[in-house]
Amino acid sequence: MSKLKLCIDVGGTKTAYGLLDDENHIVYRFQTPTPLEIMPDEFTEKIYTETDEVLKNFGCAREELSGVAVGMPSYVDYENGIVVTSGSIHNIKNYPARAVLEKKFPGIPVLIDGDTNMAALAEHYLGSGQGFPHMVYVALSTGLGTGFIIDGRLFRGSYGGAGESGHMIITPGEGLTDGCGNPGCFMSYACGSYIVKHAVNAIESGIPSSLKDMVSDLSDLTAKHIAEAYKQGDSLAEKLMKQLISYSALHIYNLFIAFNINCYVCGGGLTNMGDFFLERIQEEADRLNKQENQKIYIKKAALGGDNGLLGCGIALDLALKQ
Ligand SMILES: [Zn+2]
Repeated sequence: MSKLKLCIDVGGTKTAYGLLDDENHIVYRFQTPTPLEIMPDEFTEKIYTETDEVLKNFGCAREELSGVAVGMPSYVDYENGIVVTSGSIHNIKNYPARAVLEKKFPGIPVLIDGDTNMAALAEHYLGSGQGFPHMVYVALSTGLGTGFIIDGRLFRGSYGGAGESGHMIITPGEGLTDGCGNPGCFMSYACGSYIVKHAVNAIESGIPSSLKDMVSDLSDLTAKHIAEAYKQGDSLAEKLMKQLISYSALHIYNLFIAFNINCYVCGGGLTNMGDFFLERIQEEADRLNKQENQKIYIKKAALGGDNGLLGCGIALDLALKQ
């Protein structure tokens, strides 16, 4: 039997493990919760012990692995294997995760990268970005992140932070402040967690909305509730959805103007709210785009929740080929 790749997609709520064969078929899956308060060394130890469980369940030995790839919900310095910062797992900072994992998996190549880069690779090779030499994967999720493919290759920038476009500032000095420390970045308007924060702030300031009756405690409010209230005609939800759509479109349009990249593959939980969401982002981006005959393609990700694991598999193929 040929060797298997161990792919690990660390998300803000769950960590998915997959064993992938030569053709990047996922032959075994396993899932555990991601404890967000976890400390760095506990995190790598968790990966090590859960890998044992994965291998035991599937019935293969550690020596049968050709490589280990980890996708993190983080800003990762790929070259040096360092998790620089992580918005969701906030105790992991400037942590040499690859070096620690290499000690735990002696003789097996290990790589680590940001989850949006992994998703970009997957959609470029196997999903909605096929046929586009330049594309951006846009994660419209709890947060807002991107992964850039330029000339068919991942583009990471000088310090590995090329996918941090969600923190480009759109209203300087005004608005909410997220983990990046600057008020008014795109993410503080156009992502799941911040649209909920805007809703809670509005309700607490006395603006009437059916959202208030949908949960017993405002801390339980989610973007799903806002989508539901929007469909029922709630005026606050309509205003918030308009804000989410217009800032998402501005973000894409600004990337288009800066890089002239024409393909934007959107994934993440918000894209499951209904077809209207990406259709309205497309309309808004088209309205902004004054370049005749230069279409901006806004597409839904084709691989769904598997793009993290598949991207890890492709990243390992590319690294092992070198
Ligand atoms: Zn920010």
